[in-house]
Amino acid sequence: MQTILEKKQSTEPSLIDPSTALEILEGKTQLLDTVKQASIPRMEHFGKKVRIHILDNVKNGHCPEDCGYCAQRKNANSGVQEYPIKSEEEILKEALEAKQNGAYRFCIVSAGTGPNDKMVERLSGTISKITNEIGLKVCLSAGLLDSSKAKILREAGLDRYNHNLNTSEAHYGEICTTHSFQDRLETIESLNSEGVGICSGLIVGMGETLTDLVDVAFTLKRLKVISIPVNFFIPVAGHAIKNPNALNPELCIRILSVFRLVNPDSEIRVAAGREGHLRSLQSLSLHVANSLFASGYLNVKGSEIDQTVEMILDSGFEPEWEGGDLRLDQREHIYSSGNIQNLYKYKKTK
Ligand code: SF4
Repeated sequence: MQTILEKKQSTEPSLIDPSTALEILEGKTQLLDTVKQASIPRMEHFGKKVRIHILDNVKNGHCPEDCGYCAQRKNANSGVQEYPIKSEEEILKEALEAKQNGAYRFCIVSAGTGPNDKMVERLSGTISKITNEIGLKVCLSAGLLDSSKAKILREAGLDRYNHNLNTSEAHYGEICTTHSFQDRLETIESLNSEGVGICSGLIVGMGETLTDLVDVAFTLKRLKVISIPVNFFIPVAGHAIKNPNALNPELCIRILSVFRLVNPDSEIRVAAGREGHLRSLQSLSLHVANSLFASGYLNVKGSEIDQTVEMILDSGFEPEWEGGDLRLDQREHIYSSGNIQNLYKYKKTK
């Protein structure tokens, strides 16, 4: 099996400074000029490839934290189903299906403050099987972690851990009170020192300023983060974000471009909320981002894999994966001879 070797840390310097980043976000540049500028490092580091990530919530709800954006936070009463950790058999089956569907990476997400020793042991066993027996890359998102737990997970084969900054340090107190920005930084630093690649990004639209967004982009650069999910806030029922920002597709493209230009060799993911916030500009985002999710997000549905692959191919890009069947568009063409009569506005009835 071919294995795609990935960098663990970003090494390339930023291509813009904070004041230029702010000008882009303020709309002071021509959109297509900015996209063109950001497409250059995208093509240089990733060519025409797009990585498809598939998320699996292995444990949902029962969380004591109060992250304001999350449907699983304590007292959210969001209507989202809560369940204890899935069995290993179930997780392995879902990982295999994700691989067969063309996933590049399988993202295991477990709700909670952070895993205890027993949970780390359990997750290590599952990660080892997905990595070695199924042959699929894994990213784990399980909350706060110290370096001894990071070491156990790395020895089990984990090469990437997700721990988002979510927003800037200055804005963090507005979105969460049960843990601090510093707690998150410490987890990222523990993983960095153990040599685990970091996936860390943000959620745009939680009442932050454009300067906060610039701050996050450069903090991720300083932390050498190699994978950056750029999520766009989805107002789940029961959320506690005080003043969600109004987002529009053009601003979303500008934000993705800034994250690319500040972090030229990082995987930039157009993540949660792309369907609702980028809308008809989703395909334009692939000129600057090289990664996305298919089959939904933590607790909200999104585009299915066939639709996602179709968009990638229509935009002139190619899905990147290590195995499974290449699911090029297998659907019947809308204008095929078998379907054309179904499209007639006025059809003879005989
Ligand atoms: S983001 Fe994670 S830690 Fe925060 S409330 Fe949701 S499940 Fe809990």
